[in-house]
Amino acid sequence: MSIGLSDSEEQLRRAAAALARETIAPRAAEIDRSEDYPWDNVRALAQAGFMGMTIPRELGGAGRSFLEAALVIEEMAKVCTVTARIVVEANMGAISAIMHYGTEAQRRLAAELVLAGDKPAICITEPEAGSDATAMTTRADARAGGYVLNGRKHWITGAGVSRLHLIFARVFDAAGTEQGIGGFIALRDADAGLKMVRREPTMGLRGIPEGELEFDGLELDADRLLMPPGGLGRGFAELMNAYNSQRVGAGTVAMGVAAGATELATDYLRRREQFGRPIGEFQGLQWMLADMTTKVTAARTMLHAAARSHGPGGSAFPDPGLAAQAKLFASESAVAVVNDALQLHGAAGYSRDLPIERMARDVRMFTIGGGTAQVLRTLIAGQALGWKLPQRREGRVREAS
Ligand SMILES: Cc1cc2nc3c(=O)[nH]c(=O)nc-3n(C[C@H](O)[C@H](O)[C@H](O)COP(=O)(O)OP(=O)(O)OC[C@H]3O[C@@H](n4cnc5c(N)ncnc54)[C@H](O)[C@@H]3O)c2cc1C
Repeated sequence: MSIGLSDSEEQLRRAAAALARETIAPRAAEIDRSEDYPWDNVRALAQAGFMGMTIPRELGGAGRSFLEAALVIEEMAKVCTVTARIVVEANMGAISAIMHYGTEAQRRLAAELVLAGDKPAICITEPEAGSDATAMTTRADARAGGYVLNGRKHWITGAGVSRLHLIFARVFDAAGTEQGIGGFIALRDADAGLKMVRREPTMGLRGIPEGELEFDGLELDADRLLMPPGGLGRGFAELMNAYNSQRVGAGTVAMGVAAGATELATDYLRRREQFGRPIGEFQGLQWMLADMTTKVTAARTMLHAAARSHGPGGSAFPDPGLAAQAKLFASESAVAVVNDALQLHGAAGYSRDLPIERMARDVRMFTIGGGTAQVLRTLIAGQALGWKLPQRREGRVREAS
């Protein structure tokens, strides 16, 4: 149950639930088995207006809010985690950064691609720069009229299927002086020098490739640099601000998987009989179900509050603290809820005949990707204390400005 939705939000949620039930759910097991990117689902999402729904109307989108996107994401996640993640990346993260910071030409390019079914890839993580993202070494050197990128990223969701890439890199001017971290828009196939070199053999979420990308003399015109309003000196902070929307999206996927698993477990408790009675009559299992339901409702409430919030200074993106808390709680509770749902199914939960084992593999990612649970705790504690908490040995704890 969602709290405080307007009529049009509820209508949207119902439309998403119908699409999820009728079209997306029947394909979910096969997507997991084949590990093929679900282009059919992408077409169905685009037709329903769920690809690029947060893109402003003047660019052809529906101008929907992050909360509205979250309603669609939850319904998809209940039945197919992969499809829900596509909705996240087609409405939050890289696409919202481009919509808010991009030039008119950049916004038009991105809108056209996403509305036609492209799920953008956001490229931050490197083999030696995971939680410590600002240790990235991918560089963009200024050349006449543009930049040349060299470096490597890994665990990039959609590598090999996404066309639009937002690549974070250290920017150097023509004299070789570092300017800060910037985001570059690159297009697979059109821009030579952007190569996928490896697909990760993942535990779950198998229908979206996670890949390693190499940028080998990737030449981009100057107008492919996404310039945040504070300039490159504040580039990383402002680009990561846009990422708060993606955090809400990722948390919503986790919560949606937990909600779907809870529905399956509830049905099973009613149907499965042992000792001559439905197992739902055993109080120990009722209390497990009560805790699962409570966690899902709490996570949803936090995520919706974060989705509706604005960051400091009238930022268009969700408040960083609320987004971090919501993603942390939603992801950790979802792992626990899905694990309990599997337990309630007994051996049937361990079988690939039912969706629960797939959900258990899929949901495990969400305490890792998009800021680990540990890194989010550091962020939340820093906010509570009003301190900057540098993690390097030489860093000093100081008051946040
Ligand atoms: C399925 C999936 C999809 C992803 N998609 C993308 C994507 O599209 N784009 C992208 O750029 N990246 C993506 N990532 C990468 C993800 O953002 C990183 O995995 C994450 O930031 C953590 O980095 P790491 O894996 O290198 O772990 P590490 O940083 O090496 O961390 C290892 C462990 O140490 C802990 N740790 C590290 N530093 C600290 C600290 N200071 N205090 C306490 N604990 C700490 C971590 O929490 C973790 O438990 C994806 C990852 C996964 C699994």
